[in-house]
Amino acid sequence: MAPRLTVIGTGYLGATHAACMAKLGFEVLGVDVDPEKVATLQAGRLPFHEPDLADLLAEQVATGRLRFTTSIEEAATFGDVHFVCVGTPQRKGELAADLTHVDAAVDGLAAHVDRPCLIVGKSTVPVGTAARLAERLTDRAPDVELAWNPEFLREGHAVEDTLRPDRLVFGVRSATAEAMLREVYADLLDAGVPAIVTDFATAELVKVSANAFLATKISFINAMAEVCEAAGADVTQLGSALALDPRIGGRFLHAGLGFGGGCLPKDIRAFMARAGELGVDQALSFLREVDAINMRRRARMVDLAREQLGGSFIGKRVAVFGAAFKPHSDDIRDSPALTVAATIQLQGAQVTVHDPVANDNARKLHPGLGYEDTPELAADRAHLVLHLTEWPQFQALDPAELGEIVAERRIVDGRNALDPARWRAAGWTYRALGRP
Ligand code: NAD
Repeated sequence: MAPRLTVIGTGYLGATHAACMAKLGFEVLGVDVDPEKVATLQAGRLPFHEPDLADLLAEQVATGRLRFTTSIEEAATFGDVHFVCVGTPQRKGELAADLTHVDAAVDGLAAHVDRPCLIVGKSTVPVGTAARLAERLTDRAPDVELAWNPEFLREGHAVEDTLRPDRLVFGVRSATAEAMLREVYADLLDAGVPAIVTDFATAELVKVSANAFLATKISFINAMAEVCEAAGADVTQLGSALALDPRIGGRFLHAGLGFGGGCLPKDIRAFMARAGELGVDQALSFLREVDAINMRRRARMVDLAREQLGGSFIGKRVAVFGAAFKPHSDDIRDSPALTVAATIQLQGAQVTVHDPVANDNARKLHPGLGYEDTPELAADRAHLVLHLTEWPQFQALDPAELGEIVAERRIVDGRNALDPARWRAAGWTYRALGRP
């Protein structure tokens, strides 16, 4: 009989994983400590925005294969394989990751399991966490095995990435654990997805080093943008030329406002903190610079916006296009767009934000900013428009029509995603990071 699966923590990662595992034919029980989230999911509705996931969730809940509960006890007795997908946020006032949710999920399962089973960690954790948890399980629930199977999905492409990932990484200590993971992922493996079978520590490190590499690539091109600004060069042309070198490649090489979200910033910080604990902090000291370059882009954006307004935000209306940390998501965790919007408001501007899906989340975090349902309403009589999250609909805007609405035709493109020629042809002053 097919193993029964549980997913502990049904946020961006867990809700996606649960729905996709049900799609693969498994019976899946999702567990979360947030009763409102559980009620919404159990009603077949998605509590956040993720393309294709709402339909998949509704479809799978309707089959009866996918259910949700707040009871870890129910999950412990239901499942043969338990995927731990809880959050690992940055600890308050520190660089390190907060592992209390991971520990609580594993302890909760250990307290209630009544037969041999496999706990599979998917949350992003500091190297050494799985070994520590395995030891904890030896004392509390000796029949429970642990595996680490880090997750690489991208918000905005989560369903596709879960059903057709680039690779699967299995950190295991026994052939039984590997065999169980191969059974759960059989369809993906049959379709040719490569699996790397390794130890706990390597599996944990694959995830954090992948994020460190991607963050470094983004900060590299943003450092080049700083140099381009000083030298009068154009970082978009520089990036296009670099991208033609197959050793470099063009992905994650777009200069702009930098990275944010619930993963890259906290993951590189937790990685530095863990390296320090392991006595190899020098190996990752470059990540401090990667982080600093990234945060400097937000400050530079604020400065560039102020320059466009003649040196002061006082009494100016600024329209901000975008609030999510990236397009196709409503995730506003550590969003560069919102950091810039809130800073500008603090410096005296009246800021009105429009995001296609993230307005509600943004309003909860920054109730003092204005929010509008369309870019046109946000831009009404604005002295400056800032393009801060590269939703395709912003690229499709007609600069001439928008020009009729604003008080001044000035735009700063924080994502180097708009066509400067089109905006300039319609009478706009177009500025962007890293180019003249
Ligand atoms: P999230 O905050 O959206 O979801 C975490 C969920 O866990 C929340 O719903 C929370 O209520 C729940 N939770 C907390 N403690 C719990 C407990 N003891 N029992 C049951 N539920 C509990 O976070 P997320 O973005 O889904 O990330 C989860 C993990 O996955 C993190 O470690 C993250 O780094 C990693 N990850 C995320 C992504 C992504 O794109 N979001 C991609 C890869 C890896």
